[in-house]
Amino acid sequence: MSNAKRVLITGGAGFIGSHLCDLFLAKDHRVICMDNLITGKIENIRHHLKNKNFKFVKHNVSEYIDVRGKIDYILHFASPASPIDYLKYPIPTLKVGSLGTHNALGLAMAKGARFLLASTSEVYGDPLVNPQPESYWGNVNPVGPRGVYDEAKRFAEAITMAYHRYHKLDTRIVRIFNTYGERMREEDGRAIPNFISQALNDRPITVYGSGKQTRSFCYVSDLVDGLYKLLMSKENDPTNIGNPNEMSLLALAGTIIKLMGSKSKIVYRPLPVDDPKVRRPNIAKARKILKWEPKIRLEEGLSKTIEYFKSIKE
Ligand code: UDP
Repeated sequence: MSNAKRVLITGGAGFIGSHLCDLFLAKDHRVICMDNLITGKIENIRHHLKNKNFKFVKHNVSEYIDVRGKIDYILHFASPASPIDYLKYPIPTLKVGSLGTHNALGLAMAKGARFLLASTSEVYGDPLVNPQPESYWGNVNPVGPRGVYDEAKRFAEAITMAYHRYHKLDTRIVRIFNTYGERMREEDGRAIPNFISQALNDRPITVYGSGKQTRSFCYVSDLVDGLYKLLMSKENDPTNIGNPNEMSLLALAGTIIKLMGSKSKIVYRPLPVDDPKVRRPNIAKARKILKWEPKIRLEEGLSKTIEYFKSIKE
């Protein structure tokens, strides 16, 4: 008897979604990748299009989702996720976090599927506690420009817990911290793709604000490893997955300039509204219950990411 599972990945043509498609296909499972391609790209999954275990469906999950046949797992990753994307698509971002999550949960109920929600460190807002444990409730401005993403994901967590408690749906919630790697878009707008493509094109490196704000960057292979372990666990409460190696944005820019041997100079640009001043995951819970922690050092992950950006430029 085959142990193959059938997995629906919403946002499967996106950065993290496409790495999840790779992971489940490598384990000989069957994957339905659903994406409306507003920020996802066919290029990210082109290598699977001829695989009989893979099916791409172009669909906006904020509309009713119709899938025939069994589904064992639903991984709900559809959403714009970069600040410039969710500022460009504020209403689709709110809709996919609310209506899209509702539709995906309804499908999970109908199919008896296990459901994993991609939540975010943005639920902590501009945190007053650093590092952030899962027990921290956050400091979010609901009506600021980032509120469209933060509140959509907070709602998504709330409705997922309600389906778990009320309908006894088997759910998981991951709070994903800053992640980077191959298949981020050049025009994505986040710090790492911006800095690498600026350095590659001999343009100045744009540091927002003083550059003293901090982030903690996780390489994508570590992240998907943690996501898989969480899905296989029995943990229903939100779980942080990220790399606790915290650094200032200025230090990140310096590391990228050095790794690339770049002559680009740093220029300072205004800090976006409500930009969190610090961010670092407390991963004690993931370490304990998933026996997971990130393995890839920043320089190693950045080198792979730089090679990717060079390859798409050719
Ligand atoms: N940032 C920057 N220059 C850029 C892009 C981003 O200095 O070209 C800063 C941004 O203001 C934030 C940090 O880098 O403090 C991380 O931003 P990103 O958009 O990558 O993700 P966020 O953590 O804000 O969701």
